[in-house]
Amino acid sequence: MSDLFKGYKGAALETLKKFNIRVWSEANITSSRGEFTGIILPRAENDDDRHIVLKLATGYNIGITTETITDMKEIGYKEAHYKIPEKEFPYTPELPNVKLFGTGGTIASRLDYRTGAVIPAFSPGELYGAVPELADICNLTTEKLFAVFSENMGPKQYITLAKAIGQEIERGIDGIIIGHGTDTMHHTAGALSFMIQNSPVPIVLVGSQRSSDRPSSDAALNLMHAAKTAAESDIAEVLVCMFGPTSDEYGLLHQGTRVRKMHSSYRSTFRTIGDIPLAMVDREKITPIKNDYKRRRKDREVKITPCFEERVAMVYYYPNMHPDIIDSLVDNGYKGIVIAGTGLGHINKPVYPAIERATKEGVAIYMTVQTLWGFVHMFVYDTGRDLMAKGIIPTENMLPEVAYVKLGWALGQTDDLDKVREIMLTPISSDITEREPYDGYLIFQGGVPEMREFIRGIHR
Ligand code: ASP
Repeated sequence: MSDLFKGYKGAALETLKKFNIRVWSEANITSSRGEFTGIILPRAENDDDRHIVLKLATGYNIGITTETITDMKEIGYKEAHYKIPEKEFPYTPELPNVKLFGTGGTIASRLDYRTGAVIPAFSPGELYGAVPELADICNLTTEKLFAVFSENMGPKQYITLAKAIGQEIERGIDGIIIGHGTDTMHHTAGALSFMIQNSPVPIVLVGSQRSSDRPSSDAALNLMHAAKTAAESDIAEVLVCMFGPTSDEYGLLHQGTRVRKMHSSYRSTFRTIGDIPLAMVDREKITPIKNDYKRRRKDREVKITPCFEERVAMVYYYPNMHPDIIDSLVDNGYKGIVIAGTGLGHINKPVYPAIERATKEGVAIYMTVQTLWGFVHMFVYDTGRDLMAKGIIPTENMLPEVAYVKLGWALGQTDDLDKVREIMLTPISSDITEREPYDGYLIFQGGVPEMREFIRGIHR
């Protein structure tokens, strides 16, 4: 089939031919559903033959059923080239040196018209070609460690990343950026917060919710914010740098142990939970919101503990969960389980015997809360007291995913369950805090005006 109608077949191909329209035509389509204007996109190999796909000016793609189309007119032709030109990143001696490790995710993606899917495609030159402003902020060197969507990140990748970051710090880098898929960025941020301690420089995870071929993409802005943070900020912590409010006014810097992806599609998806973000960042400045963070240092001392026990599981409790869920983990040799319990940290009574058996057999079981905000309180109801008597250990206000990576990290270092307990309950980088900020829950889950007002109140 000719490239003029790339991917189209059957009824959809006939319709295009009938109205003399080709792929990449800008067209007006009249259908019984209304009038649409946009660019005719190629179709993917496995797509159906009943729809014509149009990219609207908003960047969204829609499919129009061919039977509903009564007229199509070509008003222009706009062939898209998704290959970003590669250019060598310039070197400016006065600027800080920043290293970007690529792991994949949408931030490193563009649309692949063979399959119609977003595919990871990252190269250093492409990055500069796409966001030349980065060269005003820092001297950037890049290294692609992985090219995966973030559901494929895991202990092996955390360890590789931690070691690579450690080496860069020892060599004298001024800041680190990690390009990462957003879906599990908070797991990786948690794991790195434990594996890399006492860093003298900022370590900034960044991603994007929308790929760079969409006009509403957050990729470039998030990258510029991350570069500014890595190059200039004095916050020497593992951070997540992503959209703050729903507009593109500023980004927020979240501490790696207190951050979570909270929305499947909003660009402002990351929220600090149980605390407030560390700082705001825009293209001009970095404005701290808190001041109890670790400061940038000149020395090169960093503690890398790249361990992880893979036989650790997280169980999200649901009413009527059966004990065999826990039993099967024990039977399969799991060494640790983090439970996300209801309310203050509960699970149902029929599971108790399985918990008792698991802890007797030396499985470390820790309780977190599904509510995300708030502390585990196991003294309030008899359920909680019973569970503690059976060996479950509450983890204060540690987020479930953070407790999961911390338990993997702790069991990766030792089998001694007293030592594991000590590691788990010793706060590291605010994974456990003394209290939640007053009103933080209400404000940071909410809208833009309240958030701005809240931050203004802190600066007053
Ligand atoms: N599925 C992607 C990922 O997490 C989503 C993203 O990057 O935003 O890798």
